[in-house]
Amino acid sequence: MKEVLNFIDGVYRPGHSNEWINSINPATEEVIAKVVNSCPEDVDTAIKAAQNAQSSWSRTSAQKRAGILRKMANLIEERLDELAAIETSDNGKPIGVSSTVDIPRAAVNLKFFADAITQFSDDSYSSPHALNFTKRSPLGIVTCISPWNLPLYLFTWKIAPALASGNCVIAKPSEVTPITASIMGEIANEAGLPKGVLNILNGEGPRIGTELVTRPEIKAVSFTGSTNTGRVISQLAAKHFKKVSLEMGGKNPTLVFDDCDYKKTLSGVMRAAFSNQGQICLCGSRILIQESLYEKFKKDLIDLTAKLIQGDPTKQGTQQGSLVSGPHFEKVMSCIQRAKEEGGKVLIGGERFGEKGYFIKPTLIEGLGPETATNQEEIFGPVATLQSFKDEAEALYLANATRYGLSASVWTKDIQKANKMADGIDAGIVWLNTWMLRDLRTPFGGVKESGVGREGGHDALRFFSEVKNICLQY
Ligand code: NAD
Repeated sequence: MKEVLNFIDGVYRPGHSNEWINSINPATEEVIAKVVNSCPEDVDTAIKAAQNAQSSWSRTSAQKRAGILRKMANLIEERLDELAAIETSDNGKPIGVSSTVDIPRAAVNLKFFADAITQFSDDSYSSPHALNFTKRSPLGIVTCISPWNLPLYLFTWKIAPALASGNCVIAKPSEVTPITASIMGEIANEAGLPKGVLNILNGEGPRIGTELVTRPEIKAVSFTGSTNTGRVISQLAAKHFKKVSLEMGGKNPTLVFDDCDYKKTLSGVMRAAFSNQGQICLCGSRILIQESLYEKFKKDLIDLTAKLIQGDPTKQGTQQGSLVSGPHFEKVMSCIQRAKEEGGKVLIGGERFGEKGYFIKPTLIEGLGPETATNQEEIFGPVATLQSFKDEAEALYLANATRYGLSASVWTKDIQKANKMADGIDAGIVWLNTWMLRDLRTPFGGVKESGVGREGGHDALRFFSEVKNICLQY
């Protein structure tokens, strides 16, 4: 049985308490690895390793740090097939997605921040009698906590800017999908990352969460995961005035107007609803359709959804794999049941696919108002609701009628209307006539209960550094 160990001070090692949890292939329900379930003593060991490495790494030039990150990216690319196969068996996502989205993007994340740190500049403010200028320095040791839906993709999205900025990292991948992240230890060693600069702790979050957030040696916490966990981390961090970045849940609206580019909209709306089995924080799980188009769009969306190829995620051509785990499968099935109890009509799907594995058929539900739990709570599975709206005002009302505010997409050929919607929607990201088109330089994050702070580009480099203003009088 494969063992997923902690990676501390450049060495793989078991946890202090010698406790383990299983990693399960959700498509086959087989145990594929046993994973260290870390305890607070493991955080202690990781902090000591990071402390020893910090002073040298923070003084290493940005060019040299960038060079190591680029080597790590190249090594990911060399191992693409292996990493993609592991990601699929750990997560249940189609191999076509792991090999063209998840793993390539992990490499791109490292290359992007390698380039970014060498282009990052300080500010200066000149006045007749003085010059103010800023200097940025690494924070020290930082915690990076990532979720299971895009395991290596989001793990590298955090560690890349943290390392590029000269910090030592204690990273905590999700215990549900830890395998590809654990391989980053091998890759870091091979690329020449000094020992202790990147430390990876495995296991359940609540066992080590308090130490990861509150230990005085930890200067910042970058978290991506659910709003509930984000709230716990935020409360812990506040007591200690820790810098935090929180990327949390979403209940994102997709606004379809009757003047949209019909074909493009139909496929875009389906992609937004069901990519990665609906397990992307940006998925458009509330589809809002203008009344005049509602019946036709509904029928065509059902037909298109029926054509999605679901099944063995290791097979090329599969478009829908399994959900990530048994507990998550149960949660999503209970949300479908709740939708029915609330009076929702299941238009397609709504049930398990196959006999084995945690597969749920892509599901569309109509007949539920904005106040229902189904339209309020994040489901994070292949389940989307349809609601109709009369005009722009009602579209905006429905779009904003949740406690979340991560992203939205608006589909209309009228650019003025599109801009009006973009201005009115409470979200950190609005896509017009597209979905999940990413430029890594742009600010990424949410408002309301979806997030605090922004990742991406210079925002991430600012987060992972401390700025000092120096004033010189002439
Ligand atoms: P989760 O909150 O259960 O876990 C996320 C990470 O936090 C895991 O590594 C987990 O071990 C750790 N954790 C759990 N409890 C902890 C604690 N008390 N202290 C410290 N760490 C703790 O989330 P999940 O189920 O893995 O991921 C799904 C959620 O992530 C969804 O809500 C989704 O919307 C969100 N998400 C958000 C974004 C974004 O960018 N906004 C991106 C991807 C996923």
